[in-house]
Amino acid sequence: MKLLEQITDLNKAINKEKKLGYVPTMGNLHMGHEALIKKSQKECPKTIVTIFINPTQFNNKKDYKNYPRSLNQDLKILKKLKVDYVYLPTVNQVFNEQLPKILLNKSQKILCAKFRNGHFEGVLDVLNRFVKLISPKSIFMGEKDYQQFFLVKNFIEKNHKTKVYSCKTIRDSNMIALSSRNNLLNKASLNTLGLISNELLNLKKKIYQDTRQSKKLIQALKKDLVKKYKIRIEYMECRNIVNMSPNIHARSFKLFIAYYLSKVRLIDNF
Ligand code: AMP
Repeated sequence: MKLLEQITDLNKAINKEKKLGYVPTMGNLHMGHEALIKKSQKECPKTIVTIFINPTQFNNKKDYKNYPRSLNQDLKILKKLKVDYVYLPTVNQVFNEQLPKILLNKSQKILCAKFRNGHFEGVLDVLNRFVKLISPKSIFMGEKDYQQFFLVKNFIEKNHKTKVYSCKTIRDSNMIALSSRNNLLNKASLNTLGLISNELLNLKKKIYQDTRQSKKLIQALKKDLVKKYKIRIEYMECRNIVNMSPNIHARSFKLFIAYYLSKVRLIDNF
């Protein structure tokens, strides 16, 4: 495994690599990240992982400060997985070049984009910078952040030769989607998270039976969840996964949710 900290080292190491698989991360790695890395290793001859907590995608300074960091443990995991290249840039390196601002259009300002001002603009900007530096053949991203995957795929495939692929959400035995933010929750909250995840999965199954009932079913469970688990729900809605419109069909929709549990903002989709 080659550890790269300077842009010059990165360029030297990968300039002959034409078929790189790339997994962007913010570190604090778990089995969800591992699944993306394994998929990249299966599909591509060499794999590069970046660990970079991008300040520009945090709309809340405290959230950026509190984001879990565990670099030594992450490097152990990456070494065990036999990742070829790990790039750990500094903030100054990444934002060295002045680039035009990326803006979302009105139809893209839904779900998380509605509640996290500038978040996806920050995500698209940083990935645009990484793709320019790395020129990977493929990027692997998690369905856990489906809206992010959808926006990145559209943007990157329009502006670069890179293809963007998604991987299924990895969950634990309680149906909890693995996430670095789960490390900010205590045992009782994790237990609640499992119960909520199961309720949402059941709701998805019910909506699948009759999509015309979706609004009514969502309204009812939303009320229930708030009362039972004392959570604050930002949004809970179904979207068509092909174009993210609210017009859904049984075979191609997801139920999206963002909520606060013990002051930690969590997102998931089913
Ligand atoms: P992050 O480090 O949180 O920015 O995530 C890096 C990548 O891992 C993103 O593409 C996420 O969607 C993906 N990811 C995060 N959690 C999971 C999970 N539970 N299953 C699959 N992919 C995940």
